[in-house]
Amino acid sequence: MNPLLDFSGLPHFADIRTEHITPAISELLADSREVLARVRNDASAPSWENFVQPMEDANERVARAWGQVSHLNAVVNSPELREAYNANLPLVTQYYAELGQDQILFEKFKQLRGDPGYENLSRARKKIVENALRDFRLGGADLDAAEKERFLQIQEKLSALSSRFNDNLLDATNNFMLHIENADELAGIPDDVLQMARGIAEKEGMPGWKFTLHAPSYIPVLQYADNRALREKLYRAYSTRASEIEAPGVLANSTGNFDNAPLIREILELRKEEAQMLGFDCYAEVSLATKMASTPQQVLDFLQELAAKARPYAERDLAELREFAAARLGLEKLDAWDVAYASEKLRVDRYAFSDQEVKQYFPETSVLPGMFKLVENLYGIIIRRVEENVQLWHSDVKFFTINDCNGKLIGHFYLDLYARPGKRGGGWMDDAVSRRMRTAEPGESSIQAPVAYLTCNFSPPVRLDSQARPALFTHDEVITLFHEFGHGLHHLLTQVEDLGVSGIHGVEWDAVELPSQFMENFCWEWDVVSNMTKRVDPLPQSGSLRETRSAPPPAPNGSVNAVPVEHVDSGEPLPQSLFDKMLAAKNFQSGMQTLRQIEFALFDMHLHSDFDPDGEKTVQQLLDEIRREVAVLIPPGFNRFPNSFSHIFGGGYAAGYYSYKWAEVLSADAYSLFEETSPGKVVNAETGALFWNEILAVGGSRSALESFIAFRGREPKIDALLRHNGMVA
Ligand SMILES: [Zn+2]
Repeated sequence: MNPLLDFSGLPHFADIRTEHITPAISELLADSREVLARVRNDASAPSWENFVQPMEDANERVARAWGQVSHLNAVVNSPELREAYNANLPLVTQYYAELGQDQILFEKFKQLRGDPGYENLSRARKKIVENALRDFRLGGADLDAAEKERFLQIQEKLSALSSRFNDNLLDATNNFMLHIENADELAGIPDDVLQMARGIAEKEGMPGWKFTLHAPSYIPVLQYADNRALREKLYRAYSTRASEIEAPGVLANSTGNFDNAPLIREILELRKEEAQMLGFDCYAEVSLATKMASTPQQVLDFLQELAAKARPYAERDLAELREFAAARLGLEKLDAWDVAYASEKLRVDRYAFSDQEVKQYFPETSVLPGMFKLVENLYGIIIRRVEENVQLWHSDVKFFTINDCNGKLIGHFYLDLYARPGKRGGGWMDDAVSRRMRTAEPGESSIQAPVAYLTCNFSPPVRLDSQARPALFTHDEVITLFHEFGHGLHHLLTQVEDLGVSGIHGVEWDAVELPSQFMENFCWEWDVVSNMTKRVDPLPQSGSLRETRSAPPPAPNGSVNAVPVEHVDSGEPLPQSLFDKMLAAKNFQSGMQTLRQIEFALFDMHLHSDFDPDGEKTVQQLLDEIRREVAVLIPPGFNRFPNSFSHIFGGGYAAGYYSYKWAEVLSADAYSLFEETSPGKVVNAETGALFWNEILAVGGSRSALESFIAFRGREPKIDALLRHNGMVA
């Protein structure tokens, strides 16, 4: 029996072998194609039962099996697994592409929409039909044959151009190398960064140090190098990547042409043509068709309003920075390559504390129970670790079950917290199984419980001899954990019974970060944080543990506190003075940072709405105009930011970059109801129940705006975000 074809319970991770993948996927794709052929040829009028349901069932099996393969490929990658994954990826992609282009299925959806029976469908099912019709139209299903061909050409061309944009950027980044032989030029740069630079030079058999434009090299040099000329050299090279400018000091930018400017123009032209074929005025309208924001003007107004509010704070931030740089660093004129350097010095001067210091108070053994306690209190649920009868893909992974207070099962989640070789970086949530009503026997049905993967890349626990010590998290890592758990709860606490809009399925793209960013707020609540931090003794420098400590007691089964108690200084929580410093540092330069995000978002929205790619004005001139309007810090004339703006030219953020700020407004505003209802004590079960019912439970079964209004009693406002960012008078 192929474990990838068993959908009766949880995934069988311990049984899955690489050789199961290809047979399982080909069998499932063949089965699904058969189902599609059957519903296509069915002469009876399409109904939910004879048309949508069989397709959802078939697609769910493909998605669940392929989801397990993709997950393993991401968290326990190996050459064999990667090969099997890459061999099957085009087949799965091809299947979904065919599905999205199928004219007969499109006609059947239209028929179903027009049928009198449509009105009797549940809200969720109506939404699934509406979404399907929308996606068929956006995929060009309404076009005639000749137009369709051109439409497909445009799609292919666009995807090739995006890929070339990214390749150029990567090549331009890789082809820069700055070789330094004199140690005097390197003052201020941290040791680990120097070691890395030394390692690169060593590998090439060179003396000295080699610096690159990759983030781990570039960012610390700009932040810490006392050598202003060195900072300038790197800044020039970085900010002219993939442009017509060859920065001085660049060693190897001569072999190829990496200029992205011509690609940008072509991408914008093709997007405009695509939009017009679909009956839209501009590409921004295509992008917004699947988002919560309704028109480009609404987004522009939103960004302008936020810019006006942030501006005085950004001006204050900059004035403070200039004053500090002149008085303390002797920098009379603050150049672009001085900003990160001076900011870091100012930050340390003002809020002296280190990540290392904070980490001692956030052991995993306090953070996990603290986070679980928080959501248990908010939603009246119970979270328990389960170790029996569960197959895991790695010994680091923990498995948990969520029940309601009556003991009824709600869902499960896997937690894979630590970085390790073969695991993709970053943090994310993925769905393993989605909640839905299943029809088992005729007249009998049951709920399929949802299952989530929560993945992070934190430092693993340190082990010395036989002594285990819990993993220690920086405050940033705690925030990441809460963020991903917020996505997880969105997926797990849904009450929707149809797959297409259950949990995060079908939620608008600019609203899907609401539940995750919402959770982050609790990491800044003294009430919450002080109850979950415990100080951990600093780790002794030498390996002298064996003499002074006895072996730890065996870890009790089924408990998240599986750690020897002597390592946790149980009495001492995080000092409030340290927390206050963290809180003050949280909003350091928030005015300047906000304006920078708005500058990028306005640029993106104008480019895809009222900018004419064939007109007189260049892309760079548009950006310069926007900068004059909203920025407090104008970068030098040689800066070619658009040429490296891969979010919108090489990724999926075109006319969508505003979503970052948009979702922040939603989550801050939602959170503010907790602050208003019970000041000083945000963990309020009544408001929690409302958040669950109106936001988490409904998933994509209604629009995010309706859900927000149902929860908050009104449309979103920017006030709470401004307050949380310290931008209020
Ligand atoms: Zn997220």
